[in-house]
Amino acid sequence: MKAVVFEDVGLPGIHDRAVPSFEADEVLVEVAVSGICGTDRAILLGEFPARRGVVLGHEAVGAVAGVGAGVTAVAQGDRVVINPTYHCDRCRPCRRGMPAHCGAKEGRELGVDRDGTMAGFAVVPERFVHRLPDAVSYRRGALVEPLACVLNNLAAARPRWDDRVLVVGAGPIGALCALVLARRGARVTLAERDPGRVELARLLLPRTVRVLAAAEADAAGAPDVAIDTTGALPGDVLGTMAAGGTVVVMGEKEAGVATVPLRSLVTRGIRLVGAGPYRPADFALAVDLARELPLETLVTHVLPLERYAEALALLAVVPPAPGRPEADGYRAMKVLLGTDGSPAP
Ligand SMILES: [Zn+2]
Ligand SMILES: [Zn+2]
Repeated sequence: MKAVVFEDVGLPGIHDRAVPSFEADEVLVEVAVSGICGTDRAILLGEFPARRGVVLGHEAVGAVAGVGAGVTAVAQGDRVVINPTYHCDRCRPCRRGMPAHCGAKEGRELGVDRDGTMAGFAVVPERFVHRLPDAVSYRRGALVEPLACVLNNLAAARPRWDDRVLVVGAGPIGALCALVLARRGARVTLAERDPGRVELARLLLPRTVRVLAAAEADAAGAPDVAIDTTGALPGDVLGTMAAGGTVVVMGEKEAGVATVPLRSLVTRGIRLVGAGPYRPADFALAVDLARELPLETLVTHVLPLERYAEALALLAVVPPAPGRPEADGYRAMKVLLGTDGSPAP
């Protein structure tokens, strides 16, 4: 099978790999499409540590191609979505109801230190494979995992009906936040620095979402909830929050540092929270909500695995080698690798 492999910082390579074998409690999934995520991008830019030689990718859907002797939840041919946030159920965070912060993740993170989904096939433990509802296409199902992240982080804001919500960053995660909030009837403003993404967000999101260039974000007024999806929380966001507001730090960058005026937390009752990855229940909820949320509207490109370099160029992965053209900003929203049956552009 073909696999997109992380060799070193820079562009990955495409390798021929044997179809992986599987244990009694594991499922072999023939991957249809695998989304390119900010994490994949960060790995390639050297901003997120990953094992050299690992198959990249963790947001995937496909069909069950084989099951271990002990597997009962799915059968050959079932359409499934993969939950890549493994947990052990035995460590202290797991026992305290925080499996998302499982202490035994090392060596088990799909597409980071365990072979991921940008390949013909991937092997996943049975309990992390969910059947896709019939109504959910592969193109839509590929966004179930990011949706689970979004649901967990939106819940951490403890939103109220009349909230004004500011989402910082109009990448796929920010756009997904806006899409979900707009469906709930929330008043949502999306602020973004990259002009290409401002344009894409305006084109792809419902009209009720206000999309502003970051410089005009003040026009959003004082938000009750701010979701930072960039990992570079703009310093002035805390100062502009309405009294009693909540800032959720969702994006992460290894070098992300913010200076926080502590006084504003006290005098205006601002909460600053990090929610991190989703719980298993959020993933199940995301599978269910995918029946009605038009997640696929955020997918701008579906390209076969072999065209991974082109796909990464659309996402402004900085070309590190001399002689390669400069990356020139984002030219896509969500990009999927693989095939969902539609012709590639
Ligand atoms: Zn991801
Ligand atoms: Zn654990």
